[in-house]
Amino acid sequence: MSSLANVLDQMTIQGELCENLSDGTVRCLACAHRCKISVGKRGICQVRFNRAGELRVPWGYVAALQADPIEKKPFSHVLPGATALTFGMLGCDFHCGYCQNWLTSQALRDPASEVAVNLVRQITPQEVVKAARRAHAEVIVSSYNEPLITSEWAVAIFKEAKAAGMICAFVSNGNATPEALEYLKPYLSACKVDLKSMQEKNYRSLGGVLKNVLDTIQKAHEIGLWVEVVTLIVPGFNDSNEELFETARFLRSVSTDIPWHVTAFHKDYKMTIPENTPSKTLLRAAEIGREAGLNYVYAGNLPGRVEEYEDTHCPHCNRTLIRRYGYVIGEYHLTGQGACLSCGTQVAGVWPENPRGVKTNGAGIPIRVY
Ligand code: SF4
Repeated sequence: MSSLANVLDQMTIQGELCENLSDGTVRCLACAHRCKISVGKRGICQVRFNRAGELRVPWGYVAALQADPIEKKPFSHVLPGATALTFGMLGCDFHCGYCQNWLTSQALRDPASEVAVNLVRQITPQEVVKAARRAHAEVIVSSYNEPLITSEWAVAIFKEAKAAGMICAFVSNGNATPEALEYLKPYLSACKVDLKSMQEKNYRSLGGVLKNVLDTIQKAHEIGLWVEVVTLIVPGFNDSNEELFETARFLRSVSTDIPWHVTAFHKDYKMTIPENTPSKTLLRAAEIGREAGLNYVYAGNLPGRVEEYEDTHCPHCNRTLIRRYGYVIGEYHLTGQGACLSCGTQVAGVWPENPRGVKTNGAGIPIRVY
């Protein structure tokens, strides 16, 4: 067994998102793979495993802990300008060739990520929340690896965070089960979901199933989570007009108020053949989103090169309500109830009650806190 596996296997507890089957086999319910795991075996994500008939799940550590601008998640309609204390563990249930966090996400799946053992730091939920307080964070986010597969740990932290008056969010690939969403619902306020493609074959190549992700977006919206969707636009993979329209039409069918972020791919991990996404492709995708009827469309990762698509506009009078450059808020023109200051139209989202307290012209950069 690798040294990383040795370390991680010790940092586990008995899982809650599972059911016992016969002969000591367990079924994990944390993600839509629904792995049936017999004694001594691991699930697809490798970090959840069956020890003597008991599902063991990650617990008691972080591999990253950072105070990020909430715009980096990206959330554009959740407390703009807020600091989001973001924690991550190790492992993922997908294997995207262009993953920008592959060192942590592909732990135990790619031998090259063995060095991630050096990132592991033991910590308690109380200490995570203390770090959030020190960073003046209003939001706590589970991200960097796939948070669904470490849901029990996230809930332990979220319970403390909620009691301390913070709101909690996930940054997920959307490969959830209804059981996992119900489990998270009491603590989670917002969820960013990646919708990577509308083609089944593309999802298969990343290790997922399209329908599961579409169902997650639908269900998360239905149960009242604030949902924002990101599509990383990869040239030649998911950037045709037809596919972009299909994505936007699906989101519109759930709600025209779901913000859609189209973001620029840059070469990473194993996907080094497509060119980096040019701004003109992002602008085309953003225009398609707007044409399809979505109220809020954003173009990300290319600050200053995507015209007005970094900003939030009133869906009624088109006034610029939030001006952004990258992760920095330049102007904020919403009421404490989240309405347009010019025409009074309500803008969907989770807004600060005190608009004067919104941090403008901040540094807009992540700060490592652990
Ligand atoms: S989280 Fe997903 S991949 Fe991991 S064991 Fe559970 S069902 Fe399998």
